[in-house]
Amino acid sequence: MLELSTPVQYVKGVGPRISEILAGKGIHTVGDLLYYLPFRYEDRLNPRGISELRPGEMSTVIAEVRNSGLFRTRRMPIFELVVGQGRARLRCLWFNATYLQGKFKPGQMIALYGKVEEDQRSRELQLIQPQFEILGDSSDNGENGGAEKKVAESLEVGRIVPIYESAGQGRLTPRWFRRVIRTALDNLTPDLPEPIPAVVRARLGLIPPRAALWNVHWPEPGESFENLQSSRTAAHIRLIFDELFFVELGLELKRRQQKTQTGIAFRLDDSVRAAIKRILPFHPTAAQKWVLKEIAADMEKPYPMRRLLQGDVGSGKTIVGFEAAIIAIENGCQVALMAPTEILAQQHYFSARRILENAGYRIVLLTGSLETERKRETQRHIAQGNAQLVIGTHALLEEKVEFARLGLVIVDEQHRFGVMQRLKLMKKSSDSVDQGYVGADAPVRPAERSSAAAVQSAVPEPDVLVMTATPIPRTLALTLYGDLDLSVLDELPPGRTPVVTRCVPDDQSPKVWDFVRKQVAAGHQAYVVYPVISENEESELKAAIKMYRELSGQVFADLKVGLLHGRLDADLKDQVMRMFQKGELQVLVATTVIEVGVDVPNATVMVIEHAERFGLAQLHQLRGRIGRGAAKSYCVLMTGGKITEEGQRRLDAMVQNNDGFKIAELDLELRGPGEFFGTRQAGLPSFRVANIIRDAQLLEAAKREAAAVLAGPNAEISSEEISRALVQMRARWKHTYGLVEVG
Ligand code: ADP
Ligand code: MG
Repeated sequence: MLELSTPVQYVKGVGPRISEILAGKGIHTVGDLLYYLPFRYEDRLNPRGISELRPGEMSTVIAEVRNSGLFRTRRMPIFELVVGQGRARLRCLWFNATYLQGKFKPGQMIALYGKVEEDQRSRELQLIQPQFEILGDSSDNGENGGAEKKVAESLEVGRIVPIYESAGQGRLTPRWFRRVIRTALDNLTPDLPEPIPAVVRARLGLIPPRAALWNVHWPEPGESFENLQSSRTAAHIRLIFDELFFVELGLELKRRQQKTQTGIAFRLDDSVRAAIKRILPFHPTAAQKWVLKEIAADMEKPYPMRRLLQGDVGSGKTIVGFEAAIIAIENGCQVALMAPTEILAQQHYFSARRILENAGYRIVLLTGSLETERKRETQRHIAQGNAQLVIGTHALLEEKVEFARLGLVIVDEQHRFGVMQRLKLMKKSSDSVDQGYVGADAPVRPAERSSAAAVQSAVPEPDVLVMTATPIPRTLALTLYGDLDLSVLDELPPGRTPVVTRCVPDDQSPKVWDFVRKQVAAGHQAYVVYPVISENEESELKAAIKMYRELSGQVFADLKVGLLHGRLDADLKDQVMRMFQKGELQVLVATTVIEVGVDVPNATVMVIEHAERFGLAQLHQLRGRIGRGAAKSYCVLMTGGKITEEGQRRLDAMVQNNDGFKIAELDLELRGPGEFFGTRQAGLPSFRVANIIRDAQLLEAAKREAAAVLAGPNAEISSEEISRALVQMRARWKHTYGLVEVG
C-alpha cells in the first residue's frame, strides 16, 4: 500500500531515473504525484464521427491513420495527416512541423483533439494543429493486445480523459502520467487522514480526500465537463479548499498570537497631535487622515501593530509614515524606516530632514555603503538612543544594529517582496528571536533583548507598518496578508492630472527629443530610462551609458544631463540624485534604479526606451515618477525591434490606463498569480492546486473557517479536531513553504 508520504520511486513504472525527472517538477512523494492535476480534460467519452464534425468546434476524433507527408508551400513546410473511419476521411494539418515526419504509420489508431475548420477552397473540413495521441497499432499483437482491445479497456478513450503537462522534455507524456497516476491511485492506502473538522466539511460540502484524489484524475461518469474544465467539481473544491485552509489557519494563528504579545501602548494626546500638525507641509487628503487614524488607533493599543498600508504610486504614503514616526518619537521611542534601494533610502533621508529636522528630531541614515568609521559612529548614536529616526536599506536587518528603544518599524515598498518571501522573512525573525516575534518583515534586533534588559520578563515588541504600492484587491489582500491589518490610501493628492501616455517606435526619436527640449525650455525636467533590469547585464548597461554619451554630447549638448545607474558608487549616485532634485540637472538618463519611490515633482516627462521589455507593474511604477506636481506630465514609451503580442498588450494597457488597480488586474491576467505575486520569482513553491484569483471565494471561505476553528472548542468542534488540524497545519507550513512552525 502506498501512503501519501511514500517516495514516488516506489510507484510501479517510476524507478530511480524517472523519479529524478519528476523531482525536477517538484514531485517527490506519492502525494506530490497525486497533486499533479490535469490542466484540462478531453471528452473522449463521445468522440465524434468524422461526418458529425461542425466547423468552429473543438472536437475529439478517434480514427485510423491512412497516410501522411510533408509538403512545402512558398511560406512554410506543412505536415499533412489523413485519418479515416471506414469510408470517411479527415485531413489534419500542422504548420512548420517537419518534426512530425515518420511519426505516423498507416493502421495506427490515433486520438485527435483540435479545432475543426473548413478549407477555403475545397470546403472540406479539417483539423488544424490538433493535439494527438497514438493509441496503438493495429499490427501490435504484443502483451498489450491490439488496438481494438486497447480502445475497449483503455484509459485513453471511451471516457473523459485527464490531460497532464508533459515532463522531461516530452519523455513523460500525458499518457505516461495517466498510467502511473492510475497505478498510484489503485495502490493508495484506503484510510487517508481527514484533518479538516467535520463542521467545516459539512458547511462547505467537502468530499473525503481519497474520493477527491480519485475523481480529480478520473471523473465519475456524468460529471459536468464544464465544471471539470473550470476546476469547479466537488473533487477540485475539496483539494483547493484543503490547501487554502491550512495556509489561512497558519496566518490566523499568527494574527491571534500577535494580539497576545506585549506591545507599546503609545500615548496620543494633544501635544503629540500638535507635533504632527507642526510638520505637515500640506493639507493631508481625506484618505491620509483616515489612514493615520487607523494607524494611531493601533499604536495606542497595548499589543504590537501589524499593519499594511496600500496606496498607488504617488498617493502620499511617505508623509503618513512620518506622522506615525512622530507618534513613536514623541513617546520617547526610536523608529526604523527601511527602503528597498539605497537611492530611496537616501531620498527618504533628505525629505525626513527637510520635513522633520526643523522640529528638532534627530535623523540618521544607515546604508551598507557608509564608510566603516561613519557607520560605527551612526550605530553608536542608535544604540545610545540619540538617533530618533533611523533610515536605511534592508541592510539594516543584516548589520548588527542595536536600538536603545525601538518602538516602530516602517517598511517601505514592501511589494518588492513576494508573498512567500515575506513568509520566509517571518520565519527568519521568529528563528532569530528568543523573546518572540519581532515583526512581519523586520527581524530587527531591539537592544532590549541584549544582556541586561533580557532579564526583564515582558519586552514590548515594536509596532510594524508595511507600505506597498501593489494594489491588490481588498479581499485578496486581507486573505493573503491574513496576519496583517489593512489600510488603503485610495485618493491622490489634489491637483494631479493624469499622465498622458503615448507609444512610439524609436525611429521617431528625433521628434521625442524635440518634445523633451520644449518641456525643459518651459522649466521642467525629464527622465530617460533604459532597461538594465539585472545589473549584471553588461551589454545592457553599456547601452544606457552609450546613450548617455550620445544624449549629453549631441542631442542635448546644450542641456545639463546626468546619468544614474546601480553600478555608480553611492556618493556619486547621491550627488546625481540631489542635483536632479534641486533642478541642477534637466535630463536624467537612468536605469530602473529610479523605479521605486523617487519623488521629483518638477519632472514632467519620462521617456522609456525599449518599453516592450519592461513588465507592466514596472512600467506603472516608473511612470509613477512623473505627474507628481501640478503641471501636465507625459510618458513616452519608445519601442525598438520586435514586440511580442503580450508586450503589445502591456503597452496598450499603459496607454489606456492610469489607475494602478486596473493595471494590476491586467497584469495579473497577463502573468498569472505566480509571477504577479513573485512566488515564482523567489523560486519558492506557489500553491499547488489553488489559484488565488480563480479561487478568491474559496480563499475567503478558508479564512472564515480558519477563524471559526481557532475560536473553538465548542458544541460544533472538539478540541481533538482542532489539535489535529493544527498538527496538519504545522506539517504543511514546514513541508510546503519550507517554514518553521507557526506559533
Ligand atoms: P508614494 O505613495 O508613491 O510613496 P509620496 O509619499 O512619495 O507617494 O508622495 C508623492 C508626492 O505627493 C510627494 O511629492 C508628496 O510630497 C506629495 N503629497 C503627498 N501628500 C500630499 C498632499 N496631501 N497634498 C499635496 N501633496 C502631497
Ligand atoms: Mg513611496
